[in-house]
Amino acid sequence: MFKIGSHLSISNGFEAIGKQALEIGANTFQFFTRNPRGGSAKKIEQSDVDALILLMKKHNFSQIIAHAPYTMNLCSSKPETREFALNTLADDLQRMECLPGNLYNFHPGSHTGQGAEVGISQIINALNAAMFKTMHTTVLLETMAGKGSEIGSRFEELRKIIDGVDLNDKIGVCLDTCHVFDAGYDIVNNLNGVLCEFDKIIGIKRLKAIHLNDSMNFLGCHKDRHQKIGQGAIGINALTRIINDSRLKNLPFLLETPNDIDGYAYEIKMLKSFVK
Ligand code: FE
Ligand code: FE
Ligand code: ZN
Repeated sequence: MFKIGSHLSISNGFEAIGKQALEIGANTFQFFTRNPRGGSAKKIEQSDVDALILLMKKHNFSQIIAHAPYTMNLCSSKPETREFALNTLADDLQRMECLPGNLYNFHPGSHTGQGAEVGISQIINALNAAMFKTMHTTVLLETMAGKGSEIGSRFEELRKIIDGVDLNDKIGVCLDTCHVFDAGYDIVNNLNGVLCEFDKIIGIKRLKAIHLNDSMNFLGCHKDRHQKIGQGAIGINALTRIINDSRLKNLPFLLETPNDIDGYAYEIKMLKSFVK
């Protein structure tokens, strides 16, 4: 079964977001765990979460993705930013236990001049401090475009993070098509080569979700500007190959394209028609 959804706002609660996903033809979705600008998260009403869990079961939803705020930088050169990020990560992972068995995705971070080696070790330390043996969530490292001092635009960097994490049976990767393209991985002309490289360096089994986005910019531009499906440099043919690839087709695909809710419904319908 094709698992497709989009990023949605959680502001009206968990059951409401599940209903909205249904309305746009989705069977998965992504939401921010808290305001991306930071700050504390809303109190979770377990009854509301339970209503979502019921809805998801009834309508055969796949795993859903909670996305950490963009501002959560575990490898900032500023100690107070790192501490705030660690507190956010630890709190989010605790809260995820009210919705067990799902995915938690975050941007590894930007080393802000410290160098990738230092940044990677800070990310590892934070994950080792926040993750716990009894957790039921898989933590996903997102592939990044390599904008500024971002870590995670090379598969090798993600591998190093995975290797340093004690509970790395609970670590996976979310591949963002816009980001990998902007990072220089040619998923348009050589999808097979990119996936073979991913498998060789990270292991394809670690791949748990796809952010399906077109890109406003060219291969290797390190920009990270998402475009609507079929309207960017990746294009509908390459995106159709991605959703139908035997190694990817069973993963949840999440749209983070510049759309309102009707735009997401339209893209979901279109992509469903391209599933072979
Ligand atoms: Fe992201
Ligand atoms: Fe993404
Ligand atoms: Zn992005």
